[in-house]
Amino acid sequence: MITLGVGLRLRIGKLGIHNLPHGYYVYVGSALGGLASRLRRHLRSEKRLHWHIDYLLRQAAVAQIWYAIGPDKLECKWNVILRNFPGATPSIPGFGASDCRCSSHLTHFQVTPPLELFKHSLEQNNLPQVYQLNELNSRSTDLDCTIPRIVGQQTDVLAHP
Ligand SMILES: [Zn+2]
Repeated sequence: MITLGVGLRLRIGKLGIHNLPHGYYVYVGSALGGLASRLRRHLRSEKRLHWHIDYLLRQAAVAQIWYAIGPDKLECKWNVILRNFPGATPSIPGFGASDCRCSSHLTHFQVTPPLELFKHSLEQNNLPQVYQLNELNSRSTDLDCTIPRIVGQQTDVLAHP
């Protein structure tokens, strides 16, 4: 989840220039090559702009990270659930959704998205549960120790069901 304190006019790579109203944005994605390294990349300010999300995170702050660990890509299913929440508005057509049929993997909310409701919906749809990464500090160095520890625990759980 990303917060924007003020509205922005931003170029998102080949998707062009878009007006982003202030508020909360939920971005869904998968990191089949490794969650910890992907999250570290998202939180690092110095990087080559490659994904659509890179353009947004140059200007906006990551407020919360929720994750699930497993073999399947769940981003599109999560997206459908999020879109049904009150106040959800798809943001920037095509954002993060080059390889699927979703209109966008970025959803805007004017008020804090109901992530407890999201967890409940996962349960109802028999989807794996998500967990919130430990409280985020603005310093990404803190996360360097937090993420591998959490990912390590989950991997262990998966290995010994
Ligand atoms: Zn999708």
